[in-house]
Amino acid sequence: MTAETTTRPISLFDMKAQQALIRPEIDRRIAAILDSGAFINGPDVRECEAKLAEFAGVAHAVGVSSGTDALQIAMMAEGIGAGDAVFLPAFTYTATAEVPLVLGATPVFVDVEENGFNIDLADLENRIALVKAEGRLRPRAVVGVDLFGRPADWPKLQEICAREGMFALDDAAQAFGGALHGKKLGGWADATALSFYPTKTLGCYGDGGAILTNDAARAELYRSLRTHGEGKTRYEVERTGMNGRLDSIQAAILLCKLPLLEQELKDRARVAAHYNRRLAGHVVVPTEMEGAQSAWGLYSVLLPDAETRSKVQAAMQAQGVPSAIYYPKPLHHQPAYAAAHREGLRQGPPLPVSEQVSQRILALPMHPYLDEAQLDRVCDALISGL
Ligand SMILES: *Cc1c(COP(=O)(O)O)cnc(C)c1O
Repeated sequence: MTAETTTRPISLFDMKAQQALIRPEIDRRIAAILDSGAFINGPDVRECEAKLAEFAGVAHAVGVSSGTDALQIAMMAEGIGAGDAVFLPAFTYTATAEVPLVLGATPVFVDVEENGFNIDLADLENRIALVKAEGRLRPRAVVGVDLFGRPADWPKLQEICAREGMFALDDAAQAFGGALHGKKLGGWADATALSFYPTKTLGCYGDGGAILTNDAARAELYRSLRTHGEGKTRYEVERTGMNGRLDSIQAAILLCKLPLLEQELKDRARVAAHYNRRLAGHVVVPTEMEGAQSAWGLYSVLLPDAETRSKVQAAMQAQGVPSAIYYPKPLHHQPAYAAAHREGLRQGPPLPVSEQVSQRILALPMHPYLDEAQLDRVCDALISGL
């Protein structure tokens, strides 16, 4: 092993190594857009949508301005608003909870499984029954999050939503490329929201997102809503919409990156397998559900407690190894959501797993361009802090 390989700096995410592979193609595509002036709704957007749909094996992909707007447009299309309960995990990124509130609906926080960090089905069933019993809100939608890239149990979530007449929305912002029973995420729920934030499994160089669906009527609504609710012509406003488009330059960047994605997913799985092999027995390593393939958007382990976590993070930092905490606080403890949490279920049970996991979780560097020597350095540093 040369000195150079042992000292290669380690970052949590790496967009430079990837960019070096495709820079000429990016420059060529951006130059073409600058020449054409088709900055909004140009041909790159349509091409990108077609390629995304093909990759995920769904009928329709609608490009939008971010993952957050993907969630919002999908909920607006269902008419979700005041009086509606939207069930979502308490342990996720803030955007999942923010959107129902922006639309006047009420988020009902559901606990997660310690083994996998996704929505706990038994707790979901319990809270649906409690919302019905309290009788103030209408159970309207479930947002399942494929946290860290690990698919939620979509066959069971779909079954619950179908039985209850609820909308099933997949927040796959961290999970594009993940699969269940050989079928990619994208067609498992009524609609699937993607984010192309730069550090996601497929990221652009700014903000971007998409909504995937097999339902043609929904796709048409999404296209209208992202363009101010326009009707058959640009001058007819059929519904209240928003400015939620994916721009042409971001679509062009996604088109350059998409051909790398399959190999990158394999490399993410290689990184995860290396971590699992080295760290099992030292910390709790992530598991995969039977028949599921994680996209490994992030790789997080569980430490015994918050104190050990601080110690481990300090030891890693001292050895030049970054780490991060997703997420240090469950959403029902966030000041912005605490009132909504109390309102959603007045007699709701506690959310012990979300609270515990926030204290113990730690994310390690995860990107496709980490080599074996770097992975061993991450593992050695982590173990040295225990
Ligand atoms: C990143 C993310 C979002 C939001 O995506 P943006 O493109 O940043 O708006 C939503 N949900 C989850 C789980 C995310 O990780």
